[in-house]
Amino acid sequence: MPLQIVTVPCLKDNYAYLAHDPVTGVTCVVDVPEPQPILDALAAHGWKADLVLLTHHHWDHVDGLPGLLAEHPAKVAGAAADAHRLPKLDIALTEGDSFAIGAETGAVIDVSGHTLGHIAVHFPASAVVFTADSLMAMGCGRLFEGTPAQMHESLQKLATLPPETLVCSGHEYTESNVRFALTIEPGNPALQARAAKVAKARTEGRPTVPSSLADELATNPFLRAQSPEIRAAMGLPNAPDAVVFTAVRAAKDRF
Ligand code: ZN
Ligand code: FE
Repeated sequence: MPLQIVTVPCLKDNYAYLAHDPVTGVTCVVDVPEPQPILDALAAHGWKADLVLLTHHHWDHVDGLPGLLAEHPAKVAGAAADAHRLPKLDIALTEGDSFAIGAETGAVIDVSGHTLGHIAVHFPASAVVFTADSLMAMGCGRLFEGTPAQMHESLQKLATLPPETLVCSGHEYTESNVRFALTIEPGNPALQARAAKVAKARTEGRPTVPSSLADELATNPFLRAQSPEIRAAMGLPNAPDAVVFTAVRAAKDRF
């Protein structure tokens, strides 16, 4: 039975997730921007947090941890590479490690770029990946620590997951991401269709995440370096994909 995923809006535009294994009853909280909405979501489902997975060290993904642990004494997992600047870890993870939520086993992927040491975890049997600030809905995280080449490589790893994979990312930045995407690939019909869906969801106050990897592959400009329209917009018709990605990331930073 697949993991049950609950999206928990936190702070102004962050998302945490609950991932619950219905077979064993084990629940993992993915990122802890602030405790209260997560405590409320756990209570609403009658679940207790057994595990916490921290994707990266930024305050808006970890600062709620003490408040959560005060009520749910969970084991905390995060990147071994970030152990020196994350809260104390019970489970230190490196790319290629497995990370289990009850009966479901996930694979740890290094997705450095936004930060060095940012990890994603992919649960193939449930077709879900937690990407936080690496691959986002029609976007990707800003490059605070890594190089564009690193982020490009990280996103390419995620792009090879099965297209039906649910992408659980860390922020509600989708409307801004759509506006940017439309400036560089206005002729993409999948992008136009998704723009309308996103606008409707936000008008109704619904999150635009999780998204499907198939939708990201069809509309996310950071996964579409091969698009002739994006290449033309960047003035890079024949450049390697990583160079096009770098130009797209720089254009988004100026947007
Ligand atoms: Zn971040
Ligand atoms: Fe963040």
